[in-house]
Amino acid sequence: MSAVAELAPVEPVSQAQPAAGELRALFHKESQATRRTAARPGLYIAVVIYLLFAFSDILLVPDVAPYTIAARLAVGVTALLTLETLLLFNAPTKWLDITCAGAIIFGYIGWLVPTSFSSNQESVSYYMVFGTIFMMSANLFFTFQFRFSVVTSAIILCILYAVNYFIPSSFIYKLVFGAFYISCFVFTSYINWKLNRERYNVFLNALEARNQHREATERGVALLKLSRTDPLTGLENRRAVDERLRDLWNNWQLYGSTFAVLLIDVDFFKRFNDHYGHQKGDRCLIEVADSLRHLVEQRNAAIGRYGGEEFIVLAQLKRLEDVVALSEEIRQTVEALGVIHNERRDGTQVVTVSIGAAFTRDQPGAKLERIIQEADRALYLAKADGRNCVHLFDPNDPQTSDESENIAALLKIAIERELVSLVFQPIANMRTGKVEAMEALMRLTMPDGTAVPPGLFIPVAERTGLILELGRWAIRTACRELMSSEHIRTISVNVSPVQLKAPGFAASVAAALGEAGVTGDRLALEITEGLEMEMHSDVLRCISDLKLLGIKVWLDDFGTGFAGLSWLRLIDFDTVKIDRSFLHDCGTPRGRAMFQDIVGLLRNRGPKILVEGVENEQQLELLRRLNIDHAQGFHVGRPAPAERIRALFEAPKRQRTA
Ligand code: C2E
Ligand code: MG
Ligand code: MG
Repeated sequence: MSAVAELAPVEPVSQAQPAAGELRALFHKESQATRRTAARPGLYIAVVIYLLFAFSDILLVPDVAPYTIAARLAVGVTALLTLETLLLFNAPTKWLDITCAGAIIFGYIGWLVPTSFSSNQESVSYYMVFGTIFMMSANLFFTFQFRFSVVTSAIILCILYAVNYFIPSSFIYKLVFGAFYISCFVFTSYINWKLNRERYNVFLNALEARNQHREATERGVALLKLSRTDPLTGLENRRAVDERLRDLWNNWQLYGSTFAVLLIDVDFFKRFNDHYGHQKGDRCLIEVADSLRHLVEQRNAAIGRYGGEEFIVLAQLKRLEDVVALSEEIRQTVEALGVIHNERRDGTQVVTVSIGAAFTRDQPGAKLERIIQEADRALYLAKADGRNCVHLFDPNDPQTSDESENIAALLKIAIERELVSLVFQPIANMRTGKVEAMEALMRLTMPDGTAVPPGLFIPVAERTGLILELGRWAIRTACRELMSSEHIRTISVNVSPVQLKAPGFAASVAAALGEAGVTGDRLALEITEGLEMEMHSDVLRCISDLKLLGIKVWLDDFGTGFAGLSWLRLIDFDTVKIDRSFLHDCGTPRGRAMFQDIVGLLRNRGPKILVEGVENEQQLELLRRLNIDHAQGFHVGRPAPAERIRALFEAPKRQRTA
């Protein structure tokens, strides 16, 4: 089913009302069930009362009492036996009604006929009044259908008239008594009719209530489905996936049923959206979603949309190999769709996905969120591996190990506990030989004083988003610690693309400059062409805002990533720092040629050239020969804390004044 069709808005669940005839038939059907259950207790009560009237027979018509009592017993027992037999054979309700009506009529005859032969005429004339009780039972006691009870009570009326005709009594008695019976017949029939109408109305109201209840339930179900569905792709949304995940997790905890979480991210989707437009972007996501749904349904797994261009698959699998196989199948399925994506610039021309997978594993204090975090880390590494690939979380991999969890925890408290600090490394101007700038480098120590290398904590900070706060802190601290010194013209601070993408980054830098009371042209931001090589429009906007503030933008580690050249085309960098590996390779003629080529390429584009990693005089000499603008490295100066840097500049001054 197409996603759009599945997501049709919730229609009112109203249905066509049934016609009056159908309603009557329905009422009749429902009342049959009521009559069926009421028949047995009704007839038993009626028979017991009928038999108890034997005492009034003995009192009022003792001469015929043996006959009336015999008749009462015969009718009562026969009626009950007949009813039980019918119920035993599950006979239609109509026959139960006929039995009850027959019991009334024969009960009446069985009492009336012997009574009318009694010699005690006065008692008989009073006793006859009791005959109306039979009429009442037909009309009011049993819940027959209206027509049926009217016929029964009319038969009783006729029998009375027939018997009354033969009883020797005055004309007045016959007239009064006959009129009494007729009015009794009319009134009880009328009340019966009203009761039947009332019952029908109650049935209609109950039917209406039932319909409303069903409609409300159906609407509730539809709304629930909608609240659990992603409107674009028709897949389950994050909320529904989370519930499913919780169930799988509980099953794993209780019964050990293993499962895998696969996070699937559409590669370079932002670029796809920016270039082909949002409509095509949406269509691309729908196409990917449909193909994945089709695939995972066959594998008895569940799929949901977990974020913008991120999908999640939950699969009950037994072995790690199955997880890898399913992930690879998913990757290939998307690639095989062949959705054109010419803007990704990594050689591939179609839409692909990167997949991070995690599998349940026994570990102390396991938490549900953990498996998602593990899949997320695996996804990060899949992207780092160049995308369009699968990465399975490996607990023994140092990049994904618990260590980074500890580092993340450490980073959270780093600023508050002063575990983070900055050191500054000099950058010399090759023409004047003077230190013109300082690069701020972040340092992290554990509470016991052990240093954590930036290569370890910076990626964790980027992945967890903690780099945003740390980055702001670095800029603020760098401005505060060194910009008061007039000897250092420029301070460069490293920023990661995560920071540039964060809204309000330029404003926060402006605020830090304002706080330190320095102008923007004394600050340089170094951007590394690293993993996050997609150049988002937000990043470009942020860079142009920074440039408006007068801030310099430098490209760091040039040559190590894939994006350097296209970045050079898009951004007007003030300085480009050539990665130290190129300088270190200059020992070989091939390495030197490569280095010279890079310098030549940059020179033509116009930015200042800085070479990192200068470790000896020969390298410095080479840079001089190649007319490099700036040099940085252990040979120029090692990174040192701010106070040492300040002391270094102030010492010659003191010597001069001494
Ligand atoms: P980077 O920005 O390229 O920093 C230069 C790195 O090279 C520093 O390593 C520095 O100590 C090292 N280095 C300097 N001169 C030499 C040399 O002559 N030889 C050799 N072998 N190495 C030299 P560090 O401090 O370990 O920083 C590593 C990376 O961590 C930095 O590379 C930067 O990408 C990142 N980083 C450091 N501080 C920050 C920060 O505040 N924010 C962000 N986002 N990243 C940072
Ligand atoms: Mg740097
Ligand atoms: Mg560098």
